[in-house]
Amino acid sequence: MKDILTLLKEGPVLGDGGYLIELERRGHVDSGSGREKVGTGRGSGQFTPEVAIEDPDALRSLHREFLNAGSQVLQALTFFGTREKLERAGYGAQTEAINRAAVRIAREAAGGRALVAGSISRTQLFERQGPSAAGHVRDLLAEQVGLLRDAGVDFFILETFFHLDEMRIALECARPAGLPIVATMSFRPALTQSSDGHAPAECARVMAGEGAQAAGANCEQEPRRMLELLRVLRGAVSVPLAAQPAAFRTTDTTPCFTRLPQFPDELETIQVSRREFEAFALGARAEGIGYLGGCCGCNAAYIRALARGLGLRGP
Ligand SMILES: [Zn+2]
Repeated sequence: MKDILTLLKEGPVLGDGGYLIELERRGHVDSGSGREKVGTGRGSGQFTPEVAIEDPDALRSLHREFLNAGSQVLQALTFFGTREKLERAGYGAQTEAINRAAVRIAREAAGGRALVAGSISRTQLFERQGPSAAGHVRDLLAEQVGLLRDAGVDFFILETFFHLDEMRIALECARPAGLPIVATMSFRPALTQSSDGHAPAECARVMAGEGAQAAGANCEQEPRRMLELLRVLRGAVSVPLAAQPAAFRTTDTTPCFTRLPQFPDELETIQVSRREFEAFALGARAEGIGYLGGCCGCNAAYIRALARGLGLRGP
């Protein structure tokens, strides 16, 4: 199996995703909507990845579906797998077990036919506590980086960071592991700046300048809207772009699905068709996108559509 840097050179690389919403729909992940408001960053553990130890077969099946759809990378389900976030869901003591199991399951499912990426996401502490959380965030992310490196991931995907300051910390923590890094930020509530007020072009320059071999955006917007953002990023950096759009239709006034009233229990009513993903992939090469995957709302059908758009041989 070629490594991610080689694949990126040959690109575009086809990833996978999104795991948590799909597993929530299948009944294996808790959205928290039955007990509290979702999407604030302040809730109890919501969308946490304990399925890796609670129902490993469910996770294994989804990995296989992505692999069969053509994914060249399987992301270990370690999103929201930092200790403090897991603690809010009652799984803090299982932090090591969840991260290790997630990598092992992805590796087994990959069977040498796909790379395994460790997924590292925001801790939510910047949203909850502001910049004073930086020290705590650094400890949490450094711990997870160590767990994923020891579990044997091939590279890291740093994703769904709203604050550039937190992304910077994640890059600082990930770099010493010596593995390649793909980094993507999510833009909410506006497309024109990160949550801490930095222009997308600046975010891309920081990601590329501080160690990411591919940089871009993931989650929150559907492909068509994310493309506007990617074109801005493309002008700012020379590394390949990475894009993992969501499959939900957003609006000009609210261009982020987690702020729409349909999140999380009426998402089916704003689902974007897989055809939009096929069209997105068709233009990927011309748009300079080197890494292409799905995020919330995508399942294997969407990854198959991306594969078709890229002209990769499907199953
Ligand atoms: Zn997402």
